[in-house]
Amino acid sequence: MKQRTFTILKPDTVARRNVGGVIARLEQEGFEILGAKRLHLTTEQAQAFYAVHAERPFYRSLVEFMTSGPVWVMALERDNAVEHLRKVMGATDSQKAEKGTIRAQFGTNIERNAIHGSDSPENAKIEVGFFFSGSELV
Ligand code: UDP
Ligand code: MG
Repeated sequence: MKQRTFTILKPDTVARRNVGGVIARLEQEGFEILGAKRLHLTTEQAQAFYAVHAERPFYRSLVEFMTSGPVWVMALERDNAVEHLRKVMGATDSQKAEKGTIRAQFGTNIERNAIHGSDSPENAKIEVGFFFSGSELV
């Protein structure tokens, strides 16, 4: 069954000119890009997007990182999209991510890990809706 998920190509990916490399990999994996835009997240947007982590020790630094430069936000579609994107991304810590994963190839460490992917179909819907209106996804 086709399913949607949400991804952010994080500021490290944009700064290191890896946007094309990550998108090529996503297309090779069968994801269709339904919508994409380049944004420079405000502190308020980053705080709200990662609100679930507000009490975690890394939250402040994460918000600073995510607002440090432009990102690309994208809505993706594929069979089993949420689970498949998480698999292709690899573990949160780029240093520990499995060989061949996006985070192993393009990330630097546990914070600067190249890419965000929704962790459940429910959160995918919320996260797509955070950045896109229905008419923007074709
Ligand atoms: N993060 C961090 N330190 C940690 C854990 C996470 O800086 O110890 C950052 C990292 O950029 C990660 C994001 O916070 O992608 C969200 O964390 P989460 O546990 O949701 O990891 P993810 O779902 O992105 O793998
Ligand atoms: Mg997460």
